[in-house]
Amino acid sequence: MATAQARPATARGPRLPATLTPHVLQRLAGRVSAAPDAARVTTSAPYTGVPLADLPVSTPADVEDAFARARTAQKTWAATPVAERGKILLRYHDLVLARQEEVLDLMQAENGKTRRDAFLEVVDIGIVSRYYARNAAKYLAPKRRRGAFPLLTHATEVRHPKGVVAVVSPWNYPLSMAASDTIAALAAGNAVLQKPDTQTALTALWSMELMYEAGLPENVWQMVTGRGSSIGGALMDNADYMMFTGSTATGRQIASDAGRRLIGASLELGGKNPMIVLDDADIEKAAAGAVAACFPSAGQLCVSVERLYVADSVRDRFLDAFLARTRKLAIGAAYDYGVDVGSLTTPAQLKTVTEHVDDAVAKGATVLAGGRARPDLGPLFYEPTVLTDVTPDMTLHSHETFGPVVSVYTFQDVDDAVEQANATAYGLNASVWSRDGRRGRAVAARVHAGTVNVNEAFAAAWGSVDAPMGGMGDSGLGRRHGAEGILKYTEPQTIAHQRVQGFTPPSRISPETWAALLTGALKALKALGVR
Ligand code: NAD
Repeated sequence: MATAQARPATARGPRLPATLTPHVLQRLAGRVSAAPDAARVTTSAPYTGVPLADLPVSTPADVEDAFARARTAQKTWAATPVAERGKILLRYHDLVLARQEEVLDLMQAENGKTRRDAFLEVVDIGIVSRYYARNAAKYLAPKRRRGAFPLLTHATEVRHPKGVVAVVSPWNYPLSMAASDTIAALAAGNAVLQKPDTQTALTALWSMELMYEAGLPENVWQMVTGRGSSIGGALMDNADYMMFTGSTATGRQIASDAGRRLIGASLELGGKNPMIVLDDADIEKAAAGAVAACFPSAGQLCVSVERLYVADSVRDRFLDAFLARTRKLAIGAAYDYGVDVGSLTTPAQLKTVTEHVDDAVAKGATVLAGGRARPDLGPLFYEPTVLTDVTPDMTLHSHETFGPVVSVYTFQDVDDAVEQANATAYGLNASVWSRDGRRGRAVAARVHAGTVNVNEAFAAAWGSVDAPMGGMGDSGLGRRHGAEGILKYTEPQTIAHQRVQGFTPPSRISPETWAALLTGALKALKALGVR
């Protein structure tokens, strides 16, 4: 069994970077909305397992207080011209890029990912903040709509902010997931009360701090910490809209609670994402693409690939190239760009990954690369793992592992590939590889997934923020990015002004004559080609 190359590291792992002084960590923790005598929780750094942050824990009463402050602040914020809101987002964009070293250090310390993976989050925030800063006005502007009767009915669609949006964001992309949905909500004139995952709360708090430096008025964006079982109810009971990113199981609960309250919810959930390598794919590029697709953030990425379908005719060539690249990956802990694969984030993730792989192996799967934890590198490292001979009775066949583990299957023809790729309850992201772009796009359109990348792992669709992104099936409801990504945070209102003649008949015309007149008018509108 081959193993990936380990970058030399001390048993205790790297020291925290100089940017993360106790003073900085305390300052960020102090931005949590919680009472001065709040209970505290300590997180630990995945690279080493040593304590990292000491955070206050918010109570339901803290959540209520934060909502009250947000409601007041939101009124002024909603009245602030969209162009002014956009300027703040652009200043935030500049601050994030200028001070990226701070947040790269923070993300690595809290999440255990590599610097390269962390940098992708900075890129994402740059793209999203610029996009909504420059496009919000277009989406939010009142739109003339065709009235019931041309000339007589003047109809306008107006967009109002929802009010206070609750954002529940996960630990795996702590900057990107904390900020990108919030940016769109703020651009639309909402206040945001966010509950980031406690493990990565400092990164989210850093992002919020920079937004205030950029000029956001006080209390328009606040953060609470705590378990869903403790403060989730208070969040849901007070929110005007719920933006949730997390597991499908929690997403179902949130959807049901939102239904009870009759508020909207956007749910970005899990996946079991497929990659299809067609027989005409550029094998070296596809192999490099598979590495990029399967192991980013140690596989703890909602859009990363866990199922690889390879045309039978190119299987051996592809596997040779893919395994060679996988074995060369440098795994380890370092606050620089020299490492390819970082650590898992929590002991729970290490347990899931270990259990999934062990279960598969016990039931007959073959390990082609990896397949084991690496406690010599740090408490939560697991090698990039490639499996074959995976069958439906194995847990990882259809359940999300959320780790650096991929199963390789083969297919006979395109129909077979599409059928296998679609044999899942999920539908988040997919990747298709072919030298023929048109063929690749045609296959992509047949895959049941909210985003499909052709000759790219996930970043093409993720970074194309003018287009919607989100999941089909068990992968979610609603979309981030593009028009959907901002309009979901608004209440559409139609204002229709009827002029000269209304729908009720004038007093001197009988109802029969009026019905005949209107029938004639409808026929004329159709004949004239009116839409
Ligand atoms: P999780 O569902 O266990 O927890 C997510 C968050 O929800 C936590 O902060 C938790 O405290 C909170 N929560 C739980 N119950 C709540 C309630 N009733 N009200 C409000 N909040 C509540 O998910 P996780 O394991 O932390 O995250 C990993 C999952 O997230 C994976 O399945 C992954 O695929 C998914 N994910 C999806 C995307 C996407 O964009 N589709 C992005 C990142 C992660």
